[in-house]
Formats: sequence, structure tokens, C-alpha cells
Amino acid sequence: MKRVITIDGPSGAGKSTVAKELAKRLGFEYLDTGALYRAVALYLRKKGHDESITDDKLGSELKEVEISFEKARVFLNGEDVSDAIRTPEIGHYSSVFSARPVVREFLLGLQREFATTHDTVAEGRDMGTVVFPGADCKFFLDASTEERARRRFLQLKAMGKEITEQDALKDVVERDRRDSSRDIAPLKKADDAIYVDTTKLSLRETIDLLYHHITSRCGIKGSDR
Ligand code: C5P
Repeated sequence: MKRVITIDGPSGAGKSTVAKELAKRLGFEYLDTGALYRAVALYLRKKGHDESITDDKLGSELKEVEISFEKARVFLNGEDVSDAIRTPEIGHYSSVFSARPVVREFLLGLQREFATTHDTVAEGRDMGTVVFPGADCKFFLDASTEERARRRFLQLKAMGKEITEQDALKDVVERDRRDSSRDIAPLKKADDAIYVDTTKLSLRETIDLLYHHITSRCGIKGSDR
């Protein structure tokens, strides 16, 4: 296992942008684990499945799924799905299917394997608690529900998606509830993670703060590549 920095937190806390930027500064690779759950959800939706799918069927469908990353793009069975996974519908279903143990088990190996070959900044919900419990540096990014909904709304609007602020708030509240209350790998701060409330911080301030912790508290210097 190479060096691993984990960033967990609820939807809209700023994890993706922060993780991407930190990876760039450190010369690490960025692992977007939400994209993995979204790619699985896209595959299952295309096959017409919803929450009623049985575990057996889910298991056999997953045998047909191959996900890879290449230059920050996500590929599902060879097809670039980086944009297709960013819809509110897929956001909803990624949260629904991510509560199923067979899905989490399937993606666990993929995530750990990634970090055997790259120094990694991994972002998700259970990075510090389940996937990389021995990570070199762990963070839990948070922000008020209203602020996270506002960010989600702006992000989806910028991508040209049809959404209202109210829809964004509903989506954030619902996903928080589902992600935090599921039995397996629920969203929660690892005991040894550094908690950062980003409600009043700009992205630049958040990135600088985490970078400071990474280099001072965790003693990590950039990669040599
Ligand atoms: O981060 P993002 O919004 O892309 O994640 C989509 C969904 O995937 C989350 O709402 C969550 O249910 C699920 N997820 C997860 N564990 C992770 C990453 C994402 O359960 N490590």
C-alpha cells in the first residue's frame, strides 16, 4: 500500500474539488469513490433495475461490470460515462444501491487495489473507517445542510442540469439520511480523522488548511514523480 490520504463527508461538503486539488499539489492520484457507486447505479438503471432487485440478481449483474479510471475519466465496460453518472437520478440510485452489502463488497477490492499502485487522495463516505483504516492522514469535511444544498444546486446548474434550489435541498437531506443510517459502512467520522467545517470557508481556504495538516500534522511531503 502506498501513501493514502482519506477525505470523507456528506454530499456537497466540497470533497471532490478539495481532493482533486490536493492530489495535484502533492503529486498523488485522486480516487473518486462516489464515481464508482454512480457507475454501478448507471449500469443497473440501464438494465431496468431499482431497489427491488434481489441480492442474487445484484450479484450476477455485478459480474458484468468493469470500471476503470483513466486521466480523471470514468469508464464503465469501456465506455466513458464521466458525464452520464452526474445526473440527480443517478445520484439518488447510487445512494440506494450503495446500501447493499454485495455492492460495497464488490467495490472494496477495486478501491484498495488502486492504492497499491498509487499514492492516493481517496474521497468518499467510508474511506477512513472501512476502506483505508490505516491511512496516513484522514479528514472529515462537513458544512451546514443549507450551504451544501446551495453548492450542489450551483454545481448541477453549471453542468446545465434542470434543478431548483428546493430539489437540491431535498436531495441532500435524503442522501444524508440514507448514507448515515445504513447498516453497512455508514457515513461517519473516523475516530482519528481531522474534522473540518467548511461552511464559512472558501475552497482555497479549505485546500490550504488541509494541505497544512497533511504536511505538518501527518508529516507527508509531495510525491517524487
Ligand atoms: O460522492 P457522490 O455524491 O458522487 O456519491 C454518490 C453516492 O455514492 C453517495 O450518496 C453515497 O451513497 C455513495 N457512496 C458511498 N461510499 C463512498 C462513496 C459514495 O456509499 N465511499
